[in-house]
Amino acid sequence: MTRPADPGAGAAAAPGPSALGPSHRAWSRQRMAAEVFDIVVVGGGVTGTGAALDAATRGLSVALIEACDYAAGASSKSSKLIHGGLRYLEMLDFGLVREALRERRLLLTTLAPHLVRPVPFLWPLTHRWWERPYLGAGLLLYDTMGGRKAVPRARHFSRTGALRLAPALNPDAFVGAVQFYDAGEDDARMVAVLARTAAAYGAALATNVRMDGLLSEGGRVAGVRARDLLDGSGLVIRGRHVVLATGAWTGDRTGAGTESAGEGGSGPLGGRLRVRPSKGVHIVVPRDRIRMDTGLLTRTEKSVLFVIPWGEHWLIGDTDTEWPFDPGHPAASRADIDYLLAKVNRMLRDPLDAGDIEGVFAGLRPLVASGGGDTTRLSREHTIDSSRPGLSVIAGGKFTTYRVMARDLIDAASRDLAAAGDRADGRPRAASGTAAGRAGADGGTGAGGGTGAARTGAGADRTEADGGMGADRTGAGGGAGAGVAGAGGPRAVPPSRTHQVPLVGAAGYAQRWDSRERLASASGLPAGQVERLLGRYGSCIDDLLALIAGRPELAQPVSGPSGYLAAEVVYACTHEGAVRLDDVLARRTRIAIESRDRGLAAAPRVAALMAAELGWDGERASREVAQYARAVAADLAAQGEPDDMLASQARAKAPDPVPFYGERPPESRLS
Ligand SMILES: Cc1cc2nc3c(=O)[nH]c(=O)nc-3n(C[C@H](O)[C@H](O)[C@H](O)COP(=O)(O)OP(=O)(O)OC[C@H]3O[C@@H](n4cnc5c(N)ncnc54)[C@H](O)[C@@H]3O)c2cc1C
Repeated sequence: MTRPADPGAGAAAAPGPSALGPSHRAWSRQRMAAEVFDIVVVGGGVTGTGAALDAATRGLSVALIEACDYAAGASSKSSKLIHGGLRYLEMLDFGLVREALRERRLLLTTLAPHLVRPVPFLWPLTHRWWERPYLGAGLLLYDTMGGRKAVPRARHFSRTGALRLAPALNPDAFVGAVQFYDAGEDDARMVAVLARTAAAYGAALATNVRMDGLLSEGGRVAGVRARDLLDGSGLVIRGRHVVLATGAWTGDRTGAGTESAGEGGSGPLGGRLRVRPSKGVHIVVPRDRIRMDTGLLTRTEKSVLFVIPWGEHWLIGDTDTEWPFDPGHPAASRADIDYLLAKVNRMLRDPLDAGDIEGVFAGLRPLVASGGGDTTRLSREHTIDSSRPGLSVIAGGKFTTYRVMARDLIDAASRDLAAAGDRADGRPRAASGTAAGRAGADGGTGAGGGTGAARTGAGADRTEADGGMGADRTGAGGGAGAGVAGAGGPRAVPPSRTHQVPLVGAAGYAQRWDSRERLASASGLPAGQVERLLGRYGSCIDDLLALIAGRPELAQPVSGPSGYLAAEVVYACTHEGAVRLDDVLARRTRIAIESRDRGLAAAPRVAALMAAELGWDGERASREVAQYARAVAADLAAQGEPDDMLASQARAKAPDPVPFYGERPPESRLS
C-alpha cells in the first residue's frame, strides 16, 4: 500500500501529501480494512476533523469516517464567526469567553491566517444613559481578554458618526453606537482544510462512509461497523479507541445510533450524553441592499441578530429553536424567514423583503441537553462522556473552540488507552505500537507510529521554517522523539501540539499576499481574483495557478457574479475530497447560498467538470444534477411552509442520493 503523492504543484506547507482526491480515499479505505488504528473518529465536522488532526499530530494512527461530506452538518451552516461571544460575557461565562478569544487569536495569527480575518460590527445603542458605559465596559474587557493587536479595539460613535459608517440604518432606531471587532471565516472551507492537514500528518479519511454500529470485545469498544455509501460495501474498522463527534446525531433517535453485533445490548450511542438539537437559520442578501461599511449586531428579545459581511453578500441570522425532526435536514420555514426579516428591518431605513433573499441555510447546534426550557439558555460548553471503555463521545461546544474540544477528546482517549494498557500487562501500553509496526512494514507511509511520527516532527519544523508561523520548535521536535521511542516499546501519548500546527495553506501565505500583484500579472487573472483565491486557499494558490497555467480554460468562472473558477471545481475533486455535486455547490464553493437560483444554472457545468475528474459517465452526471434540483425544490417548498413540522415534511420529499440511514436500495447505486 503506497501512499498517494500529491497531484499538481504539491501541498504547500504541509509535512506530507494532503490532497484528498480519489486515490487518497482508495488508500484510506484499504487501510481501514487492514489496520488496527489507535483512534477511529466518527463524524467529519469541525470537531471530528479537529480530533483527527490532534491525534495524528501526537503520532497516533487515525481513521476518520464521515457519513456524508466534510462539514455537511452544522459545520457548514454556522454564522461563520470565530468569536468569544459577547453574549456569554453578559451571562458572566468568563471562562468560555477567555478560551474562545485565545483560540480566535491563535487562528488569526498562527494556525489559519489565510482563512480567518477580523470583522467589524456596529452595535447600535437604544438607551441614552446607561447603555454606552455598560457596553463600553464589556467591550473593554472583551478586547483585553482577546489579547493585544489580535483585532482592532472597540470605538465609540455618535449617531451621526454611526450613520456615516452605516447609512442604511434607520436614524430613529438608535441613539449612538459602538463598533467592535471579532473574526470570520468560511466554515466549510476550514473543515476541508482541517481534513487535509490531518491527511498530511498521516490520517486515513473517507467521506460517504457511515458508521452503523460499534464493535465490542472483552468489554471494550474495539472499532466500528460501517458502510461505504459510494459502493455499498460493508466494512469493519478496528480501533483501540473510538471517538464519536457526530454533532446533532449523537444519541439520535433514527436507528443509526444503536449498538451492533458482538456483546452489548442496543442503546443510543451517545452513552449518557443527550443532545438537544437547536435550529439556527440564516438568510443571505446582496451586499448592495444594505449600505454599510461594517457588520451589525443588534439585540433581540432572547438573543442577538448579526448582519455579517460575506463577500458580495450579507448573512443575516440567526434563530434558535428546538428541532425534534430529521437531523439530516433541518429546514427553514416561512416563520424563520419572516422572523429574521422583521428583526433586521427594525434597524433599516429601506426594509428588506422576501424578494431580496438570495439564499437560506439552516443548521443544528448540538447542544448538550440539561433539562427543559429554552435552547437559547443551554450552555455552549462541550461535554465528553468516556464512561464506556474504548469510547469517548463529545457534544456541545462552538466552532471557535474546535481545537480545545479536539484536544480534550484525544486526552480522554489517551487516558483510556493508558488505562487499558495498565489493566492488560500492569504497565502503560504503547498507544500505537502495533500500528507503528504496520506502518513501518508498509514503507513508513503513515503517521501511525515510529516512522510516521518522526516524519511528522520533521514536517512541523519545515512548516515553521517556511511560514515563520511561530511554532514551538522544541515542542514539535520533542513530540517526534516520543514517537520514535514508541516504535519499539511502551510510551505515553504526548500532549496536544495543534497550537503549533498551521493548517495547510497557512505557511507562505503572507509572502504570497505581498506578491499578489506579481501573481496576478503572471497568471493573467484580475488582481481581485488573486486576492479572493489567496483568502480561500492561502499558499495553495500555487496549485490553482499551476492548474490554470496547464489548462487555461479553467480560468473561466462557473457561476455568475460570485466568480468561482472552473479550476476551483477541479481542485475540489483532486485535493478537497468532493465526490458529489452538492459537495462543490454547497461547501467547497458557496454557490448554493450565494445565487438566487441556488446554483441550478451552474449545476450542469460543475457536474461536467466533476465528471471529468471523478470518472462519472453521462448518466451519473445527469443524476447528480437531477438530485440537486430536487433538493433545491424541496428546500424552497419548505421555506414556504408556516412551521417546522410542515417544513420538515416538505424537505423530506427530496430523498438523499443514498439514504443516510438504513440500507440503500440497489437502484440508487452511484458508482
Ligand atoms: C446556526 C448556527 C450558527 C452557529 N454559529 C457559530 C459561530 O458563529 N461561531 C461558532 O464558534 N460556532 C457557531 N455555531 C456552532 C458550531 O457550528 C457547531 O458547534 C459546530 O459546527 C459543531 O461541529 P461538530 O463537528 O460537532 O458537528 P457537525 O458539524 O454537525 O458534524 C457532525 C458530523 O457527523 C456526521 N455523522 C453523523 N452520524 C454519523 C454516522 N453514523 N457515521 C458517520 N458520520 C456521521 C454528520 O454527517 C456530520 O457531518 C453555530 C451553529 C449553528 C447551528
